[in-house]
Amino acid sequence: MTEHPIEQKRILATSVPGPKSAELAARKAAAVSAGVGTGLPAYITRGEGGILVDVDGNQLIDFGSGIAVTTVGNGNSKVVDAVSRQIADFTHTCFMVTPYEQYIAVAEKLNALTPGDFDKRTALFNSGAEAVENAVKVARHHTGRQAVVAFDHAYHGRTNLTMGLTAKNMPYKHRFGPFAGEIYRVPMAYPYRWPTGPKNCGDEAFEEFVSLVHAQVGEENCAAVIIEPIQGEGGFIVPAPGFLKQVQEYCTEHGILLIADEVQTGFARTGDWFACDHEGVTPDLITTAKGIAGGMPLAAVTGRAEVMDSVHVSGLGGTYGGNPVACAAALAAIEWMEEIDACARAREIEQIFVPRLSNLADEYGVIGDIRGRGAMLAVELVSDLEAKTPAAELTAAINKYCHSQGLVTLTCGTFGNVFRFLPPLSAPDDLLREGLDILEAAFAEHAR
Ligand SMILES: *Cc1c(COP(=O)(O)O)cnc(C)c1O
Repeated sequence: MTEHPIEQKRILATSVPGPKSAELAARKAAAVSAGVGTGLPAYITRGEGGILVDVDGNQLIDFGSGIAVTTVGNGNSKVVDAVSRQIADFTHTCFMVTPYEQYIAVAEKLNALTPGDFDKRTALFNSGAEAVENAVKVARHHTGRQAVVAFDHAYHGRTNLTMGLTAKNMPYKHRFGPFAGEIYRVPMAYPYRWPTGPKNCGDEAFEEFVSLVHAQVGEENCAAVIIEPIQGEGGFIVPAPGFLKQVQEYCTEHGILLIADEVQTGFARTGDWFACDHEGVTPDLITTAKGIAGGMPLAAVTGRAEVMDSVHVSGLGGTYGGNPVACAAALAAIEWMEEIDACARAREIEQIFVPRLSNLADEYGVIGDIRGRGAMLAVELVSDLEAKTPAAELTAAINKYCHSQGLVTLTCGTFGNVFRFLPPLSAPDDLLREGLDILEAAFAEHAR
């Protein structure tokens, strides 16, 4: 499938992190704000496919893709070539000053790939949070309404407005308030933890949503409902089937815009181009970032032409938004995804992971739920399968074990008890299996 300049094999040359990383960690402590944390402080010098090489010569297996960003893999030759050529040509003019074709080409691609066969327009930004902020700006401007409805367990970013939209206090919001106004929160259709069980979850969550919007916001005051079609940081929560569609129909009925935040789920990650595709949902606005450009900072808002075009000229923009190098990376990354059929590859990865995760569930009795789609998968760990008591300490211990063995893993979840898997789609099967072997050893060590 892909040629690999770095051998796709784990190598433990020292402890992880090793002595050179420890030196850099000491420099970090003296130079970098303590507010910026590092999950696995092994300092990276190179990466390719599913391997990250650190300063001590360790080759780590990457199950995180830098949080769902390097979906095409680090060192993807298509992206490297496109970026190198673009850097040599020019690096920046500011699209708002003197424009360039690459920005338009990315917009055309997004308009074509995102769900919905209606006329669309796109605007480009730098980060997921910036895209979400702009989607809300557009929704308010177009509707002339102010209220925005967000969900329990939501994560939408770390700027003031997006912190307000984000559900979890620690670490994202704690002592960073006050937050922007006119944000309302409703329950998420979270099947595993729905009080009356997963079967009724979708319908009951929808009823609560309708009732809360009516009673606390007023439909005619509501500009937008924003939802991650599979929640990311909140715990890889897949909403009950049909819930998204019900929300979409409700929004349409009341002139409310539906914003799908696909910053983490987008670009083949879930086995479809976008997670909304799986449920046949066509949001009015969709935000993308992370997996879009092989690691270059780029984000987008794509939406119905009449909505996106309702904003006055120069109402949207930013100095770096749609930087030409990032656009070149995005075009190359998307081309690679089309060429290898990245959606099918993500579904293959699901087939490799899920049976192994099911075995772990059978063997240890600490996995309450296995969920996700494609190459966006998670297990929720509990200390008691009946009471569903979140096992955050166990999750942290297993994570730490994986790190020490050279497997880059990530946790998430409102209760800190979800293990999530986001491998690059370019990682070969054998490497993925080797990573799963380490995960199994971690359970054997800590979950007995
Ligand atoms: C990561 C993320 C964001 C924020 O993106 P940044 O690029 O970190 O600003 C927003 N929404 C979702 C769903 C995310 O996963």
